[in-house]
Order: sequence, then structure tokens, then C-alpha cells
Amino acid sequence: MNVHEFQAKGILESHGVNVPRGGVAETPEEAELIAQELGSDLFVIKAQIHAGGRGKGGGVKLAKNPKEVRTQAGSILGMQLVTPQTGTGGKLVRKVLVAEASEIENELYLGMVIDRESSCVTIMASEEGGVDIETVASETPEKIIKESVDPAVGLQAFQARKIIFGLNVPIDLVGAATRLIMGLYDAFVKSDCSLAEINPLAIVKNGDEHDIVALDAKMNFDDNALPRHKDIEAMRDQHEEDSRELEAKQHGLSYISLDGTIGCMVNGAGLAMSTMDMIKLYGAEPANFLDVGGSATTEAVANAFRLILSDEKVEAVLVNIFGGIMQCDVIANGIIEAVNQVDLHVPLVVRLEGTNVELGRKLLSDSGLDLITANGLAEAAEKVVSATENN
Ligand code: GDP
Ligand code: MN
Repeated sequence: MNVHEFQAKGILESHGVNVPRGGVAETPEEAELIAQELGSDLFVIKAQIHAGGRGKGGGVKLAKNPKEVRTQAGSILGMQLVTPQTGTGGKLVRKVLVAEASEIENELYLGMVIDRESSCVTIMASEEGGVDIETVASETPEKIIKESVDPAVGLQAFQARKIIFGLNVPIDLVGAATRLIMGLYDAFVKSDCSLAEINPLAIVKNGDEHDIVALDAKMNFDDNALPRHKDIEAMRDQHEEDSRELEAKQHGLSYISLDGTIGCMVNGAGLAMSTMDMIKLYGAEPANFLDVGGSATTEAVANAFRLILSDEKVEAVLVNIFGGIMQCDVIANGIIEAVNQVDLHVPLVVRLEGTNVELGRKLLSDSGLDLITANGLAEAAEKVVSATENN
């Protein structure tokens, strides 16, 4: 699950990470009020959407006084913000963060992810922070410092200092930077993050002094750990979630939306994974991961089918079911019911195997539906991929 920048900053702050003072507004008037309460010489107004690159897309603006904050908030709120991460349609901005702005001396990058290979949290940091970190990562990867944290002992102060010296943080800020990195790690572990990122981590001017502060924050959480974080679960923004994934959740289906063209309906996560692999092997990409579960009803199958077909990217559908607990005739009835309800506008390949398979196949062939049957997974994958190529 993702949260907005202002929510991530709230979590980070509760773990001792230094973030700018600010508040979130849904109207220009609220934005002005927040600015008045903050009382600063410079404010930043930032679109709150679940996507990065907002600066490049015009979703981050500076203002000198509360009146200007109101004007800028008015232009950002309600806009369809297009950034390199939103796709061409952009995302509707419903909230802005109004914060005290700082004069930036230097923009650094600090991120943490779970590295499955080493089963550790990997910390990444770079002196070249700011809006172009992706370019740094791909063109000059040597500018990214990495440090692996053993989960049994946690982040050690010497590791934090190693990163800080690698980042060339000014000597008088080493203590503050250490607290900040330790705070980020604490937040990462205690909130069961899969990713936490501060970009830019900024060295800012504060009168004659300077300071180190998280100007942006991004956090992703492990969905499987959310039941023990009711406070984070409550931050879910329905508008930002994939509408098909939400609908699937309501029907008790495990569905993940992907970028390819082949819709998949499979029972069992393992079979669903290998079905996706086979589709790739035959040269196409899956449009989704979908596990209808081991004991799905006709209704669940029909719902799953509707879900897949509502995705415009889908050019063909592959149903791959192994009837163990689930019976092939139930699947067949579900397919027939669903196809009768929705307009099947793409080729459908069905591979059934297992309990009641003969009955299932007979139901399908008697239904008069225009579908392609397959024996075996390889044949099914090959047929569904060539069905999209013939389109
Ligand atoms: P992103 O583009 O979605 O990653 O949004 P960021 O929060 O990272 O903001 C993009 C850029 O806006 C930053 O790299 C900064 O250069 C600038 N920016 C963000 N906050 C401030 C601030 O408080 N003061 C100043 N001067 N610039 C800011
Ligand atoms: Mn950023």
C-alpha cells in the first residue's frame, strides 16, 4: 500500500525524522489559513498524489505570503497532474501540502528497500539527489552508496556515519544526519515498509545556520503486514487505488493489475505465477495476476471474468484451471454465465484439467461459445499469444 507525502512525513516525524512544518488542505482557503498559522517568509505548495515527478509536472510551487499560497493552491487543486510516473492521463489533485519552504543548499538522496537476495534492508544514498535520481542510478551507478543492514542487530551508528561521510554532509550536521537515518530505519522496520525514500534529503539554510531535513517522503508498506497497522491502513486513499484491485478485494479475489495484454484467470498462486511465466516465454506479457482461489463459486468466477474483461489493455484471455478442490464444471458454468452477461470482445482460450474435467469441457462445447480449448499449459500459452497476434 502507498500513502501520500504528508502522511509519510507524519510517520517519519513520529520516529524522530526532521521534516518541515506544514499542513494539508483541500481548498485554497484552507491552504491560506495553514500558511497564516505557519507564518514564514517562503512557502511551498505541493500536489498530493501517489506519484513522483510532481516538480517536473508543475505540482510543486513556491509562494511568498499566504495570499500567494491561496492562488497557487487554487491552480494546483483540481488539476489533472501529469508527471513521468502518472501516465498520459495524469492524476486529479484533491489535496495539497502547504509547508514552510527552505532555501536549499544541497539535495541528497536517501532510500531503504528490502533486498530479497540478501534478506536484509539495503540503504541507498547519493550526493546527487533531487529530481533526477533515476538518471543517476542508470548512468552513474557508482554515485550510489549502498549499505546492508543485518535485521538481527539493526542499523548500527557506524553504518549511519559511513553513509553520512559518503554523502559529504557538513561536519556540524553529522549528529542531526545520524538521528535522521536512524529515525528512517526505525520507521521502516516498525511500520513494515517495503520501501521508504527521502528525495530530496536537503541541506537547507536556516538564517546563519543550516539544517538537514526531509523535503519529500515516499513510503510503501507490505500489504500482508497491514492487519497489525490499523493506523496506516486508515491512511488508504480509495481514489488512488486501482479500481479493479479494489473491486477484486470486495469479491475476495487476489488480483494485481499488470501492464501486458493477456488477461489471466487461474486458481492457485503458484499456477498463476507459472501461467504468467509461460505467457512471457511465448513472447507476450500478462495483463494481470488473478488467483480465483481453491474454492471459488460460479459467482466468483463470473466476477473474475468481468474484472478481466473490463481492462481495455486485454487483447485475449487465458483461463487456466486445475480442478482439485475446485471442480471444472463450476468453472465452466462461471465462464458461461459471465460471457452471457458481458460482451466477450476478445479471443478466449480455456485449459481445464482435474476433477469433473469431462463435464466441464462438455458444458463449454454445448454452450456454443466461441472459445479456443487447449490441452496442457504450453499449448494454452501458445494459443493465447498467437490469438493476440492474429488480432
Ligand atoms: P517530486 O518531484 O514529486 O519528487 O517532489 P519533491 O517533493 O521532491 O519536489 C521536487 C523539487 O521541488 C525538489 O527537488 C526541490 O527542488 C523543490 N522543493 C521541494 N520542497 C522545497 C522547499 O521546501 N523549498 C525549495 N526551495 N524547493 C523545494
Ligand atoms: Mn522527490
